[in-house]
Amino acid sequence: MNTHTVKAFGTEAPEADLKQISIERREVNAKDVEIDILYCGVCHSDIHTARNEWPGTIYPNVPGHEIVGRITKVGSGVTKFKAGDLAAVGCMVDSCRECESCKEGLEQYCENGMTGTYNAPDKHLGIQTFGGYSERVVVDEDFVLRVPENLDLAAAAPLLCAGITTYSPLRHWKVGPGKKVGIVGIGGLGHMGVKLAKAMGAHVVVITTSASKTEDAKRLGADEVILSNDEEQMKRNAGTLHFILDCVSAQHDINAYLRLLKRDGQLTLVGAPEEPLPVAPFSLIPGRKSFSGSMIGGIAETQEMLDFCGRHNITSDIELIAIQDINKAYERMLKGDVKYRFVIDMASLKNEL
Ligand SMILES: [Zn+2]
Ligand SMILES: [Zn+2]
Repeated sequence: MNTHTVKAFGTEAPEADLKQISIERREVNAKDVEIDILYCGVCHSDIHTARNEWPGTIYPNVPGHEIVGRITKVGSGVTKFKAGDLAAVGCMVDSCRECESCKEGLEQYCENGMTGTYNAPDKHLGIQTFGGYSERVVVDEDFVLRVPENLDLAAAAPLLCAGITTYSPLRHWKVGPGKKVGIVGIGGLGHMGVKLAKAMGAHVVVITTSASKTEDAKRLGADEVILSNDEEQMKRNAGTLHFILDCVSAQHDINAYLRLLKRDGQLTLVGAPEEPLPVAPFSLIPGRKSFSGSMIGGIAETQEMLDFCGRHNITSDIELIAIQDINKAYERMLKGDVKYRFVIDMASLKNEL
């Protein structure tokens, strides 16, 4: 298959910094779209993968799955897009398309394994997929999204992972007017959860360990803030929430949060702590409560989320960086020092030789 070389930023070993490398992209096939990448958000998964913290990284690794850009070329059989269109790519670039999940539009749960945007077996080239820290990407049109024209493009990039990761469970568990919703943690995921739940019409309660985040939580749309290390506040709010979206990726006591749920309440994890989270049976049994997880969203739902964000003018709060600052950005993210998502201005890669 014909390929061409593009510039990228990636890493060749778990302990190595990211630096400029060259990768191969396929020429567009009949169903492919080629996108000139303008912005790419920086997700915690990028760090985990670059550093092989979720074992299985194939090197070289080029992370990035919050991609926004402009279409430069389309294949002869492409019907949904044309050159010049704005486009986006999220966490997946393909799936089997035949299993029950794929047929129901839930490609993220493909029973044969969806093809991740990076570090997944590339069905076309037989190598690993490379992500958005690169000049261009070639993707089957069925996995390409439209970006509403009114959104700030850089700030829209994080919608492709942080946005859909929080939107999908809020929709699935029918968050809306009359519902009281808790968002645990307001980092990259949580701050999107607050904005989306508010726009869906829910009463939004942020649950955080740090009083310093109260003002910001309210600015993002929270109606109330509960400090989780204040036992009095936690007790007072027991049994008050219909739904809790848990966005924390550090170890935490899940039972303390389950107590905040009303009868038939649901707590859904989207953050992924490394160690198991012990759940006491009597955190669930009295009150018929449920504890669940959720992973990104299907392609149709991701488009629905982008259109929803277009209508409500929702984007992420971001700090725009040059690709040359990516290693520093990783260190700051690990300290929680970002409000609330780094986005790479990919024009900075064009300056590299
Ligand atoms: Zn992500
Ligand atoms: Zn499938």
